[in-house]
Amino acid sequence: MEERIKKAARTICQSSITIALTGAGISVESGIPDFRSSGGLWERFNPIEYGSIGAFKANPEKVWQMLREVSHLLDSARPNPAHRGLGRLQELGLLHTIITQNVDYLHQEGGATRVIEYHGNAKTLSCLWCDQRYNSDELGGQLPPKCSCGKVLKPDVVFFGEPIPLRALQESFELASTCKALLVLGTSGEVAPANTIPETAKRAGATIIEVNLEPTVLTNYLTDIFLQGKASEMVTELVKEVEIIIAENYENL
Ligand code: NAD
Repeated sequence: MEERIKKAARTICQSSITIALTGAGISVESGIPDFRSSGGLWERFNPIEYGSIGAFKANPEKVWQMLREVSHLLDSARPNPAHRGLGRLQELGLLHTIITQNVDYLHQEGGATRVIEYHGNAKTLSCLWCDQRYNSDELGGQLPPKCSCGKVLKPDVVFFGEPIPLRALQESFELASTCKALLVLGTSGEVAPANTIPETAKRAGATIIEVNLEPTVLTNYLTDIFLQGKASEMVTELVKEVEIIIAENYENL
């Protein structure tokens, strides 16, 4: 593993543009379960049944039974060393942009400044009927939150069946097409279209570094360097190694 970490760190230091694609796994250690954890939220609330736009339109109060628990988890979650490590890579000028499928805002709280929220963000809510928009903190904890027109509000996250925000889609595709290295962290690679980003990057000639607890559909097919383990531990080791390379190069100047 040590050798793989060193190889990944060298790749990041040598790459002119490195980007990251993150998924639910990077926030598991912050207390937000991914879709695969057993015994958790998603066993009681099937994400397809509760997370589709059709389900929300048909019965928003029912979908808010799930959203109420998700909001509670998001409110109490704090960035973990994986979020902070990616923030540090950005601070060092070695990570251009993080494309995240998460809606939890933990990358920004962990120090990242350039983040594309591919599936939106739970901090704002909109009315599907009259288009009014609200910040979550201006709603006073009312559940389900309601618009001044009386309808139930929907968080600005992308539900199954909804399109990806056009700007996020375009910017992510452009970055994936031009990057020289892509870090893929804590994603199963099974949710489309975010799962096309690694393939786009690979076709453009990028080195794919994957961090996950276990191999995914991407591992054998696209990944060049697989770092198997917890995101917090792998990213911490990676950043440590990057900082060693930077210090050595500085001494050799
Ligand atoms: P997923 O649930 O399909 O897969 C999570 C992946 O993370 C798995 O491959 C798992 O092995 C890995 N993983 C779990 N814990 C890990 C850890 N500590 N370190 C490293 N890897 C770990 O997640 P996905 O691919 O992101 O797709 C799920 C969808 O659900 C996404 O669209 C995302 O928007 C949404 N989602 C978001 C959140 C959030 O905002 N935090 C939480 C749950 C689901």
